[in-house]
Amino acid sequence: MDETLKSLGVSITHGLSTAEVAERTAKYGLNQLQEAPKRTFLQMVIDQLKGFVIILLIVAAVISGILGEWVDACAILLIVVLNAVMGVIQESRAEEALASLKKMASPEAHVIRDGKRSSIPATQLVPGDVVFLEAGNFIPADLRLVESVNLRVEEAALTGESLPIQKNANVVLKSSVHVGDMTNCAFMGTLANYGRGIGVVTATGMSTQLGHIATMLQEVENEETPLQKKLDNLGKTLGYACLGVCALVFITGILRAGDITKLDAEHWVNQFMVAVSLAIAAVPEGLPAIVTISLALGMREMVNRHALIRRLSSVETLGSATVICTDKTGTLTQNEMTVTRLWVDGQFFDITGTGYATEGKFLVDGNEIDLANYPAAKTALWVGMLNNDAHLEVADQEDEKGVRIIGDPTEASLLVAAAKAGATLNEVNTSFPRTAEIPFDSDRKRMVTLHEAMAANAEDFSPYYHPSSSERYTAVVKGAPDVVLSLCKYMQSMDDQKTIPMDDEMRARVLAANDKMTKDALRVLGLAFRTVDAHPGDENLTALEEDLVFVGLIGMIDPPRTEVKSALLKARHAGIRTVMITGDYPNTARAIGESIGLIEPGHAVFTGAQINELSDEELRKAAATTDVYARVSPEHKMRIVDALRANGQIVAMTGDGVNDAPAIKRADIGIAMGITGTDVAKQTADMVLTDDNYASIVAAVEQGRVIYSNIRKFVYFLISCNLAEILIIFIPTLLGLGSPLTAIQLLWLNLVSDGAPALALGTEKGDPDLMDQKPRPTNEPIINKKMAIGVAIQTVVDTCTTLSAYIIGFLMVNGQTIDMIFDQNMDFTMAHTMAFVTLSLSELIRAYAARSERYSVFKIGFFSNKWMNLAVLASFLLVMFVVYVPFLNPIFNTQPLLLEEWLEVVPLFLIPFAAAELIKRFVFSRD
Ligand code: ADP
Ligand code: MG
Repeated sequence: MDETLKSLGVSITHGLSTAEVAERTAKYGLNQLQEAPKRTFLQMVIDQLKGFVIILLIVAAVISGILGEWVDACAILLIVVLNAVMGVIQESRAEEALASLKKMASPEAHVIRDGKRSSIPATQLVPGDVVFLEAGNFIPADLRLVESVNLRVEEAALTGESLPIQKNANVVLKSSVHVGDMTNCAFMGTLANYGRGIGVVTATGMSTQLGHIATMLQEVENEETPLQKKLDNLGKTLGYACLGVCALVFITGILRAGDITKLDAEHWVNQFMVAVSLAIAAVPEGLPAIVTISLALGMREMVNRHALIRRLSSVETLGSATVICTDKTGTLTQNEMTVTRLWVDGQFFDITGTGYATEGKFLVDGNEIDLANYPAAKTALWVGMLNNDAHLEVADQEDEKGVRIIGDPTEASLLVAAAKAGATLNEVNTSFPRTAEIPFDSDRKRMVTLHEAMAANAEDFSPYYHPSSSERYTAVVKGAPDVVLSLCKYMQSMDDQKTIPMDDEMRARVLAANDKMTKDALRVLGLAFRTVDAHPGDENLTALEEDLVFVGLIGMIDPPRTEVKSALLKARHAGIRTVMITGDYPNTARAIGESIGLIEPGHAVFTGAQINELSDEELRKAAATTDVYARVSPEHKMRIVDALRANGQIVAMTGDGVNDAPAIKRADIGIAMGITGTDVAKQTADMVLTDDNYASIVAAVEQGRVIYSNIRKFVYFLISCNLAEILIIFIPTLLGLGSPLTAIQLLWLNLVSDGAPALALGTEKGDPDLMDQKPRPTNEPIINKKMAIGVAIQTVVDTCTTLSAYIIGFLMVNGQTIDMIFDQNMDFTMAHTMAFVTLSLSELIRAYAARSERYSVFKIGFFSNKWMNLAVLASFLLVMFVVYVPFLNPIFNTQPLLLEEWLEVVPLFLIPFAAAELIKRFVFSRD
């Protein structure tokens, strides 16, 4: 062990220096595994071009090239490539957003550098770094352990062995043992699930054991979300329908032309091209990409609101959440614990001061006292300080609080309280170094540490240390009061600090004091200790939990977060119930629950013990009207999730500990705490709260609803565009008219007037009443009845206006004889132009109407989405190019429009917009 440290040139207490870190980073690189190489731009373009329809189109272009139609062939190829490039840009934007999110979710490592403990991204570790491990951490690099306390590591990721391995820093191994037997080392990617330890990094990145076996770790596959699957299916259905129509269009086009044998090749190709362009224009290929982009963009928006999404599908699920199960400590409350009360042998002490500032007084009945006269109270503070993994740090100048804490706020508050009495952690640690411990565990609800008395001045703070005594060891315990009390046999008396055997009456007094404190919304811990003459050995530590001396109760206040109350109300309006699940006492939980308005009238508070009594079926019934679960263990959380889900609820569930992982997994939306959460909780979760705040869950739900409604908006928009395009080609062809839109026009339409506005719809902020509606049922189809009616009406209106434009354009040039429209030799340029302009502009302006499903666009502010303005302006210019740039005219079969022609077109392209607004009013607003 010492050799390891020497060879890596590091001391455990000081860690590496900044200079050494820089040098080693340069030498060994970052601590990360190589990822599969990214697809290149060209590869992505090729992938885009692989689609069946695109291939057809390319074939068509080649044939027309062979036939000498060079302009057509080139134009089509160009548009196809442009389309593919657009697709690639969309796709890579989505990928980028996902990658940056992934980076944010990567784990941290706790190290000591330059003598200071700090938390750094695990990728910055270098060989020689001293790393602290706790239960729930993923091992961030290969480590040689230098300290281990009951450390158990699950190495399934590396060895396939699912049982945790007990690690021991003190064993020395022969050089040739198998990885699975190296109990003095811990390996990257494995999981510490019990105990704690310290290790020195021996290998990073690809040099680690994990790096060896995973020379190329493939990226996690991005599974499709249910919505994406649904849309994919929808796209396919539309695609098949469309191919059928294309075939019909092609066949009727040929048949109408009369004698097939007399047809020239050009006619064949033209018909073929129209059919294929229809396919490319009408199949919503862009849909999945746009969905991914808007999901990814929405995820980025959520990060700004402190919710990190780890699974794309949760964005959708969030929008339909009906119950949020949340922790109390830190999520509903600030987790800035302040010890305000102490109880020792019948006597209450009040402690003044706020937050982590270490100034405060001790009061008895409102009068300041000198703690020196109350040694038993000092002992209580001493126990809380010894049995503690937190640290206080003097913060930087800027921080007005003066003190910063590292570790669990519950524990830190005990240090602050002790500091108010003039005791510091360093003194205690040198006088009573810790020699063994049973770490805190939510199931056991307590923590035990064993200390050896060292220095002569130890008695200053421990009245129980007598140099003459043979009992050199002191075991201290803190935990849930009833649990600690049940382990005690004696009680410390106030005046002469004698330990007297505890009787039932004394126990009752302790519990009554606890009750009183919890009713004041205090979080209460019980404190106890005992002295022993010898270390019982690491295997027998539970022997220390017997015959304890009860010292007292210590109560801390954890004020609710200020924003929680309004967030809770918002959730309730949105049809979402909030349920508190806490390990704390029912009284404390109820007091907090009432102060933030979480408990609904007539709803109950349940305890873990009561849950144990219930069958699953009974619990299911009870769950419908229970708002607070107190004194629960992680395994209860699982049953609560199951019960709520059995009631048909969509459950979001928070958690932080190792044991919470199963419940997080089981919930529809598993949420981990970003600050206090363990790595396991975070890795299992669908969403990580970067500020541990309940209000962020509600914000994420809201954002989830916004995203879903935006997706609905562009599905609505795109589907009616596409259906209209199909009908606009299909009806005239059936009637024996030519196609109102040429193949190239169709492709251009698809490129400019569908995609960009649809993307812009994905950036909408959401209707103002989004959080006043009931959660959306998860099985609701994306195109529900109302949307189907809307789409039908819209499609018919769009089709009629464009066909009218076509006919008007024809008549303008060819006089009043409508029958001539069947004559393919007439001049159709004006007709094509007017149809093209009408359809593209009506779609552009209708995109504005699509910005809200139920509100008039004039109400939400016509130009309030700047992306929409940009998209529409750009598309408008592109349409104008095609009409007014002379050399484009022959390619697109268009001609410049004069004022009088515009006068015909403008009303036509405003009609679909008007229809869209009317549909909102008469179809969507009816509930
Ligand atoms: P919660 O934090 O929601 O109260 P936990 O499962 O974390 O739930 O804790 C369960 C109980 O264990 C707490 O109510 C408290 O009584 C006790 N406890 C919490 N933290 C500690 C700790 N660090 N050391 C000892 N006991 C603790
Ligand atoms: Mg806790």
